[in-house]
This record gives sequence, C-alpha cells and structure tokens, in this order.
Amino acid sequence: MKRNFQPETLMMSHGYRPEWSEGAVKCPIFQTSTFAFRTAEEGKAFFELAYGLRERGNREKTGLIYSRINNPDMEILEERLKLWDGAEACAAFESGMSAITTVLFEFLQPGDLLLYSNPLYGGTSHFVHHVLTKWGIEVRGFRPGATREEIVRIIGQSGKRDRLGMIFLETPANPTNDLVDIAMCRSVADQFSVSGRRVLVAVDNTYMGPLWQHPLRHGADLVLYSATKYIGGHSDVIAGACLGSADLIARVKTLRTFLGNMIAPNTGWLLLRSLETLKLRMEKQAENAQIVARRLAAHPKVDRVHYLGLLTPADGEAYDIYRRQCTSPGAMVSFEIKGGEHEAFAFLNHLKLVKLAVSLGSTESLAQHPATMTHAGVDPEEKAAFGITESLVRLSVGVENAEDLWWDLEQALEKVPACAELPVELEAV
Ligand SMILES: *Cc1c(COP(=O)(O)O)cnc(C)c1O
Repeated sequence: MKRNFQPETLMMSHGYRPEWSEGAVKCPIFQTSTFAFRTAEEGKAFFELAYGLRERGNREKTGLIYSRINNPDMEILEERLKLWDGAEACAAFESGMSAITTVLFEFLQPGDLLLYSNPLYGGTSHFVHHVLTKWGIEVRGFRPGATREEIVRIIGQSGKRDRLGMIFLETPANPTNDLVDIAMCRSVADQFSVSGRRVLVAVDNTYMGPLWQHPLRHGADLVLYSATKYIGGHSDVIAGACLGSADLIARVKTLRTFLGNMIAPNTGWLLLRSLETLKLRMEKQAENAQIVARRLAAHPKVDRVHYLGLLTPADGEAYDIYRRQCTSPGAMVSFEIKGGEHEAFAFLNHLKLVKLAVSLGSTESLAQHPATMTHAGVDPEEKAAFGITESLVRLSVGVENAEDLWWDLEQALEKVPACAELPVELEAV
C-alpha cells in the first residue's frame, strides 16, 4: 500500500535521508564550496552532464560538484518547493529579483516584445523599463482589468506582434489586489505562438503562493517567487525561486550557474525550516486578515478596503477570476483612509504593535504607504491610473492574536485627525 502524502506532510522529510548524514534527522547545512569525487572518472562523468556534453543515462543524476552548480540544501529545497505548485522542476535563487531577472534574460532576446500586467513590483518595473530596454527589448504594459481585446490591441499596436516573447503577470497586483486572468493570458500567448516559438507566460506568485494560487494549473509556463515573503516567512532572509517544466528550468539553471546567483547553503537551510510551518502560518495569516479586513471596511475613518475576501458577485469579472484562480483570499489587505497622505501617515505613526516596514508575508504584521514607499518610483499618472492613492495603506497580516491586532489598528485609526474635507460649496465661501 502506498499513500500520496500532502505537501505539508512532506515538508519535514521529502528529498532527504538521515543515513546521508550520520543519522541526523534534520538536513544539515552543507556549508562547503566544493565536493570530493570518488574517482577521476566520476568527476569526468559529472561534468559531462553538467555541461550537457552527452545524453543523461537512464536515472543518472548529476553528482555534487561545486556549490555554484549544486548543493544538497539547494537541491532538497527545490524538491520540496516543487510539491506545492505541482511543478516538474524548480531553481532556487539568492533573491526574488535574481529569479525574475534570470528568467527575463534567459527567455527574451533583442528585438523581442515583453508584455506585462500593471502595476508591477517596483524592482521588476525598474528592470523591465531601464535594463531590458537597454538590451533592445520592447516592453508594453496593460492596465489592471484589461480585457482580452485590449491586450491583443496593445500587442498589435506595438508593431511587434510576430516577436512577442513573454507575457509577465503579477496577480493579485501589489498593492491593490487587482486580479489578472491567467488562463485568458495563456490563450493570448497561444494566439501569438508559432510552431517552434511558444510565447511563455510567467507569473510572479509572491502574493498568494505557494499555498493559495497555482499558476501552472491555469496555463502558466513559469512561476516566480520572492521566497523572502511567505516561503521564508520570518523577515530574516532574502531568497527567490522559479518553477516550471524540466526543460525550461534546465535553461534557467544553466544561466544561474553562470550568473552565480544561486541560493547559499545557509539560506536554503533556513527556508527548509520555514517550509515546515508554511501552511500553518499562511492559514493563520489569512484567518486574521479576514477578521481585520471586515472590521476595517466597517470603520468610519476608512473609505475603501481592497481585499479578495470582500469581493462579491457584484464585482463581476474580478469575483469570477478570484473564484477560479485562488483558494483563499490571502493575507494582504490594502485600504484607503479618509483624507490623504497626512491622515495615512498619522495612522502609520501611531501603530504600536504592527511594524512600519515594507516587505510582506511574515509572521509579524507590517504596514506601509505604497505611494511614497514601495511604489515611490511609479510615475504620478500611472499611480493614479492603478489606484495607488495618497491615502492608501498596505497591510501584511501576520500570525498575532487577531484581537491584539485589531486593538492596534483601531487605536491608530482613532489618532487619525477627522478628515477636514468640507463640501465644495462651503469651501468656496
Ligand atoms: C519582494 C518582491 C519581489 C522581489 O523579491 P526580493 O526577494 O526582494 O528580491 C518581487 N515580486 C514581488 C511581488 C515582491 O513582493
């Protein structure tokens, strides 16, 4: 009899055997740069595989060579990350940005067109606009909520319809929780694919993954993570990952070997530890977020709350995408305080428990002001178009006691000056 264990069950053991390390129940940190070959012939065989100099034999694995190419902490971490997304292969990186930039460099060439969803994470946006364009890659964005027709029109107007290389998505979008339909983008990618040249769909799944959204099941080719966020989950590491088919990830790993931006043994080991509690943490965070979001929506000093758990059938397309694509509303809540920057800052400055910091997905709750912090670099017109207003606060909900959290949010809201907005006709007097 055999049972297919769930990922949360496998996070403590999958990919590691105690007999490899003196019976140690936990995978040690393999803090070594290089690995001894048993014989020169073995060393030769490993390098032949690493450089693709010959076909891999049946069940033959590349042995351990050098920690820029492979290391047990990195490989075991990759094996475990694969389980959540049901991916064939995974490549772990020293940061989310290194995962994203390596994928963009590997799969795009000068003259190609990159289509992306707006708004993008600040670091990704900078790379797309200021680095990829220097390498002769054409870039075009579409607005949150864009229809299939609009997206196809943007591709047509670029004059590069035969050179579309990749569609890069972030859904839900940071910080507004706007949703993009991954399956619809797959169908656009198929429309512009020709035989021998598949248009790839890559999804930055940092906001919902790896638990609450599985882009590969909706037609994505590549899933990207800042593992700094939920996967790490304790605000103590910077790391990243990319998942997809064995063929695509083999290409990503080859470029990673030459850029040298692989995850370090100690960071890989920290993530192995984090993965053991991933589901527990994320479920508690989502539970807390639902309580907090509902109460914020009813608070007199709050104008609007952007949270997937508050979508209703009246929200139309967004609600449908949410039901199809996500298995939980997640733990990212953003909300507009009545007023503007002054009121939002008053709230942030009076928080006692919640830390005023960027980043997300950690055990402790974090709050920040996207317009002047994470999205400070977005041009003002785009900020307005994407809903990144002066009064918007983004909250990453942690695992604290929900009543303690609400106590803090409520006391900070009380300190927000009552909004001095006067009716227009009175102001004119
Ligand atoms: C943080 C983040 C990144 C960048 O990841 P790093 O680990 O900081 O390099 C990319 N995308 C999203 C959505 C993020 O939140």
